[in-house]
Amino acid sequence: MTQLALIIDLNVCVGCSACMISCKEWNTSGSAGPLVDLNPYGSDPNGTFFNRVQTFEVGTYPNTQTVHFPKSCLHCEEPPCVPVCPTGASYKRPEDGIVLVDYDKCIGCKYCSWACPYGAREFDEERRVMTKCTLCIDRIYDETLPAGERNPACVLACPTNARLFGDVHDPESEVSTLIREQGGYTLMPEWGTRPANHYLPPRRTAHRIHPDQLVRADNPLKKESRLPKPALEEPSLDDVTSW
Ligand code: SF4
Ligand code: SF4
Repeated sequence: MTQLALIIDLNVCVGCSACMISCKEWNTSGSAGPLVDLNPYGSDPNGTFFNRVQTFEVGTYPNTQTVHFPKSCLHCEEPPCVPVCPTGASYKRPEDGIVLVDYDKCIGCKYCSWACPYGAREFDEERRVMTKCTLCIDRIYDETLPAGERNPACVLACPTNARLFGDVHDPESEVSTLIREQGGYTLMPEWGTRPANHYLPPRRTAHRIHPDQLVRADNPLKKESRLPKPALEEPSLDDVTSW
């Protein structure tokens, strides 16, 4: 069985949130939309985002590191959100492994969001239905688009290529190769949900800064030294300009 998924390289994600915004834009105007925004400029904003970028610090000072962590539905191979749905609105497609919600069947009971251990479901307070990442199903099979654009909107928007999309069941695919070669892992495997999305771990970058590099080469104002003082016999600004 094909299992489509996203691979997110935490080593190159810079936390710019382009994926989040692009996802919101595409899905608001696509078949999953509109994605609600409630009180967006107020003190208690609320809204539906299929993909959110969380930024946090790990380690103990001074050995800390900032991690940018994009997260959306992981399209689990054993999705606990599906069997709890009383109407059959939540389902996993056998042909490509995408987990979807049929809005026409959803009664907004939220059982699926309680069952999801990743907090990946997004309740639409206006339409009173559960929503979530669709892996841009309305893009990836759209043959009117050029082949290179048949990718999830988040993948196309990422300026650092931190997001890849493909079949994790195909051992020869680019995503499977990256998982194998770079130690790709899934979130909370102890839950037995077998997430399809994987993360590539951030690696520590060794910085070696030579003292010479701390001197600013481009330093027109001579910030690190005394400013040059004009000689007293030099004409002042008043002498050379007419105001
Ligand atoms: Fe279901 Fe949550 Fe897994 Fe997505 S991440 S398939 S919503 S359990
Ligand atoms: Fe990270 Fe790419 Fe999303 Fe920016 S667009 S936050 S770099 S995954």
